[in-house]
Amino acid sequence: MSDRNGAGVIVVGGGVTGLSAAWWLARRGADVLLLEKGIVGWEASGRNGGGCTHPQSPLFLEEQRLWPQMDELLGYPTEWRPYRIRVALAEADFERFAPWIEMIRHNGLRAERLDPKQVLELCPLASDANLGGWFHDGGHANPQRTAQAYAWALQDLGGRILQHTMVTGFTTRGGRVTAVETSRGSFACDELVIAAGPQTGVLTALLGQEIPVTPARAEMIVTEPLPLLRHGGIDGNGLYGRQTLRGNLAYGGGLHEWLDPPAEDMRLPPRSSTPVLASLARRLVALFPKAAHARVIRSWAGFIENTPDGRPVIDRLGIYDNVVAATMSSVGFGLSPASGRAIAELVLDRTCSFADLSTLRLARFGNLGERWREERGWVPPAPASLAGPVA
Ligand SMILES: Cc1cc2nc3c(=O)[nH]c(=O)nc-3n(C[C@H](O)[C@H](O)[C@H](O)COP(=O)(O)OP(=O)(O)OC[C@H]3O[C@@H](n4cnc5c(N)ncnc54)[C@H](O)[C@@H]3O)c2cc1C
Repeated sequence: MSDRNGAGVIVVGGGVTGLSAAWWLARRGADVLLLEKGIVGWEASGRNGGGCTHPQSPLFLEEQRLWPQMDELLGYPTEWRPYRIRVALAEADFERFAPWIEMIRHNGLRAERLDPKQVLELCPLASDANLGGWFHDGGHANPQRTAQAYAWALQDLGGRILQHTMVTGFTTRGGRVTAVETSRGSFACDELVIAAGPQTGVLTALLGQEIPVTPARAEMIVTEPLPLLRHGGIDGNGLYGRQTLRGNLAYGGGLHEWLDPPAEDMRLPPRSSTPVLASLARRLVALFPKAAHARVIRSWAGFIENTPDGRPVIDRLGIYDNVVAATMSSVGFGLSPASGRAIAELVLDRTCSFADLSTLRLARFGNLGERWREERGWVPPAPASLAGPVA
């Protein structure tokens, strides 16, 4: 389709999933238009911990294969760095790490047990009382840089991005979506990708297809810069995060504040809250006592998208044959190089050549009861409980 008020493929959502899909599509020569209600990377995609290690996913091997190449493929820096370290502060931590390590090894990748002295050699900020840990394959990257890199790389290939363009509905004909309705008018399309993070289900519901996904607010803190560690991806004490190339420790982990799915209140950036920040800072000091002097200089919150089983959805909608939907259930940053490639293949080839996506299909939720959020306790807290201390 050459109509400039439409495109061969329209991608809804300028987070890393939509951006990566659009970029992979453009690499294959597709005429792509990406529609974003705000600015690219403004939601979870620019606010996350930067972790790129998801051994539980069928896209894990592709995630690990692609990240080392991404700067070169995109032509812009993502600040990706290899390896992760997991530090144990209690014996129970080893039990928590075990399934993760098992999955990494099962995929044929590297995972080595560390004794306490080795932890201190690799991470001099760690507690002298650490019990050891693991050093394993995986990595981390800078979320803001990565989102920007996808966007520039997409535009370099002729892909178009329209920001401040809210998708409000769809026009359908003969079992296909023929146009996307937006705050800036109607855009015709041959194929459609909906990758709107926590709002994916709200949009597919307009097409008669429910996708169970619910948002939660999570937070990150950032310290002033510290001398660079040999490996910046260090987890432990319920925290995940990374040291930036400038030296800041950027960490999150812990409390999810469940929110109602309607998208209305999600148009505003979520605010960070004092009790959660205090909890993050306390746990960071316990993980890195030798960084206890470092001041917290920034914090932010973001909306994490969650499906009932914690696995992404990447699937073609049954009802409309030319629509692929993707929502990544809190693991979307790291998987984005691979998820974008998988989505592009589903659009252009109707199948994924490099991974079995059957566990990510929508059909698995066929018997889900209406009260799935309540059954999991994924309901918004009473206002008073938010003011209390956070463990
Ligand atoms: C604090 C925090 C820490 C995290 N840590 C990690 C981590 O370490 N590793 C990891 O892999 N993942 C992490 N995640 C999860 C990860 O950030 C997300 O899974 C990922 O960013 C999802 O990307 P996305 O593009 O699918 O969705 P989003 O980033 O949510 O992007 C969706 C986009 O769609 C747009 N949109 C929505 N509705 C419409 C509409 N109607 N019209 C037009 N546009 C629309 C939104 O504005 C948004 O820009 C974390 C998330 C948070 C919040």
